[in-house]
Amino acid sequence: MTTLQNRIRVILLSLLIIAIPLGASAQEELHDPEQQRVTPFQVFDNLYYIGAKWVSSWLLVTDQGLIVFDALYEGHTDILIENIRELGFDPNDIRYLIGSHAHYDHIGGAIKLQQGFSAVTMMTEQDWAMTEQPAVFREYPKPIRHLSANDGSTLNLGRTRLRFLQTPGETPGVLSTSFTVYDNGYPREAFIFGGPSMDFEGVEAAEQYLATIQRLQQIQGIEVHLPVHAEEDDIFARNEMLQNRQDGDPHPFVDPESWAAYLELKARQAQSKLEAERNSAN
Ligand SMILES: [Zn+2]
Repeated sequence: MTTLQNRIRVILLSLLIIAIPLGASAQEELHDPEQQRVTPFQVFDNLYYIGAKWVSSWLLVTDQGLIVFDALYEGHTDILIENIRELGFDPNDIRYLIGSHAHYDHIGGAIKLQQGFSAVTMMTEQDWAMTEQPAVFREYPKPIRHLSANDGSTLNLGRTRLRFLQTPGETPGVLSTSFTVYDNGYPREAFIFGGPSMDFEGVEAAEQYLATIQRLQQIQGIEVHLPVHAEEDDIFARNEMLQNRQDGDPHPFVDPESWAAYLELKARQAQSKLEAERNSAN
């Protein structure tokens, strides 16, 4: 299948996720790890993609071990672990798992990384609390509560520093992270927006989401957007460009203009969502 077909497929699937209930066959395809398998690939000197077609997972390599962003779920997590090995790394070197938000597709497999590889897991207080409530979309084995990140807090591993932002909306405690990636040694500022989907209900969540987007619009210097769902950015198309990159070509993931355009679009969508929520509340 071509990348374009793949992308259209992923977009259609993600639309279906929002339109609950999901058709049986789309549901099967989404939850079938083999159909969701992506050959893992290197994006920067210190960053790799180890996720599935519809849910992302990023592997950050430091001088003191590995950091995994989002654990995926069920059989997708087993493939994530295989991917780490395929790239030549040892999952026993995972030091931290950073959970973007407490939905099954991001932290459903956290327990496997905790029990199998002693990955210390970080989320916000609010989303740890969510794991103790009935799951929103799909049940998952509850992760063991480890560390909590706050807005403005940091985490160091060797020479790598993660800087956290709490960006509520999709869930009350969405965790976003910024850190430096290197393109042949040249530093670039990367950002994982932990909760881009508007799969929530209610005026308060819509207000929080809009405020989050507006806050992100004020942050200067983000050069690389690393999405938690592949369809939030063109990551597979960008990877194809990366594979064909010639000397002197720009890095296809370094694209601050598309990040700004993405936020503008999100801001408009968030406005209409908020209006809709206010209307239905009246
Ligand atoms: Zn998700």
